[in-house]
Amino acid sequence: MGVIELQIAQNWLNSLSLSPGDSVALLDESRTILARHPQIPKVSDNHIANFQIPAVLHAPTAEASNVAQSDIDGHERLLGFSKTGNFPLIVAYGIDQSRMLEQWQWRTIELTVGYFFLLLLAGISARHQWTILRQKEELHSSEEHFRMLAENMADIVWRTDALLNFTYINRADQQTRGFSREEVIGTAVQESLTPQGQAILDTKLKDRRAIKMAAPPCVAFQYELPMRHKNGGQVWIEVSSVPIYGSDGNIKGYQGIGRDISERKRHEAQLLQSQQQLENQLHQAAQEKTALQELATRDPLTGLYNRRYLDATFLRELARSRREEQPLAVVMLDLDHFKQVNDQYGHAAGDEVLKALAQLLRQGARESDLIARYGGEEFVAIMPNMSAQQAWERVQSWRTQLEAMPIVFANLHIRVTLSAGIAIFPDHGQSPSQLLTRADEMLYQSKLAGRNQITLAALEPHGPLVDGSANPA
Ligand code: GH3
Ligand code: MG
Ligand code: MG
Repeated sequence: MGVIELQIAQNWLNSLSLSPGDSVALLDESRTILARHPQIPKVSDNHIANFQIPAVLHAPTAEASNVAQSDIDGHERLLGFSKTGNFPLIVAYGIDQSRMLEQWQWRTIELTVGYFFLLLLAGISARHQWTILRQKEELHSSEEHFRMLAENMADIVWRTDALLNFTYINRADQQTRGFSREEVIGTAVQESLTPQGQAILDTKLKDRRAIKMAAPPCVAFQYELPMRHKNGGQVWIEVSSVPIYGSDGNIKGYQGIGRDISERKRHEAQLLQSQQQLENQLHQAAQEKTALQELATRDPLTGLYNRRYLDATFLRELARSRREEQPLAVVMLDLDHFKQVNDQYGHAAGDEVLKALAQLLRQGARESDLIARYGGEEFVAIMPNMSAQQAWERVQSWRTQLEAMPIVFANLHIRVTLSAGIAIFPDHGQSPSQLLTRADEMLYQSKLAGRNQITLAALEPHGPLVDGSANPA
């Protein structure tokens, strides 16, 4: 065994860099401390009785180490012993137990926390994966569900891309329009429409573009259009469609439902037809009613009011004139020697003369005047708000015009004259019959006076004023 100088051993130990609380010591086999770092006064050369040196180190050639716990300077340490070769020396190195424990505790906490976070992350990830799986499963089953529903629906269910090409259509389309699914998918919607349907769709698309800004997305559009049937006919479809928006907010297609409303359209058309028929019938009935009313009130040959109408309205006109304290003129006219016209030119020519006189009387009449054919070739004019002077002038005008007017009929130029009698309310009568009688008497006077005359009744005791040209005043 060689000799080691203890101071050298101490210096050697001092040169070691130790963590606070750690120690290293050189002992002999009797557990006496020969050198120690850090140095503790009066510890060196001390026999440390409570050192539990592992038994294996007592063997002369033991090359082993062991762990033991010791208490030298108040520090609890974990001690390691090692014996090198055949030297009777033992190196004991101690690591501060409290620091080590503290490190271990921190390490344990770190490990626990790390483990906990790992567990948490694993949990979250597992849950996320599970949710995605669930969602995928739900989506799949919901898609399956809706596909199953769509396939078994009586209505047409469809989907298109943004360019309006069919990307899906259910079985109901074939049942409704005769085209197989393969014939429809991939084709443009317009191809499935009749020209009228295409026009309707164009309008609807314009409408959709117009309200695109104002309307909330996914607003459903409803319209009716005729679609082509494979047999060459058409099927009216009521469509409800919504746009499909992509995640970028742009329309990536359309989807919707179509319902066969051909039956309803047929009923509507029938209803419209019967409504139109009814309207036509009502219109016809109204026309017939008007014609009947005309027949009842008008003379068919001349178009003037008939005697019945005159009798029915004369009283009312008279009451109005009385109320308004206005004069009313009653004129009775008769064609002169009309029998001769008939005899000379024929009855048809006579009719033409009657029509010509009626036209002449109508021309000079005001809205409020009532001109009627009173009998065969007798006419009566009831003219409210008309003085004797005005009536005289009016009848004079008729008389002179007729006298000057040749009536042309089948190359014949027929000339006729008229005679007239005038009575004025209230001067010459108070009732229709009184006034008519008076006017008739004045007409008779005109005939007596030689025809082509006008006679205005005079206030008694003056006699009647008779002259074709005289002024009544
Ligand atoms: P007067 O100057 O006295 O009135 O003689 P007149 O011949 O006009 O009178 P009269 O009463 O003798 O004859 C009237 C004729 O008018 C008799 C009739 O044939 C004719 N007459 C009546 N109604 C119609 C008619 O609707 N058409 C035609 N063409 N003639 C008619
Ligand atoms: Mg006559
Ligand atoms: Mg007559």
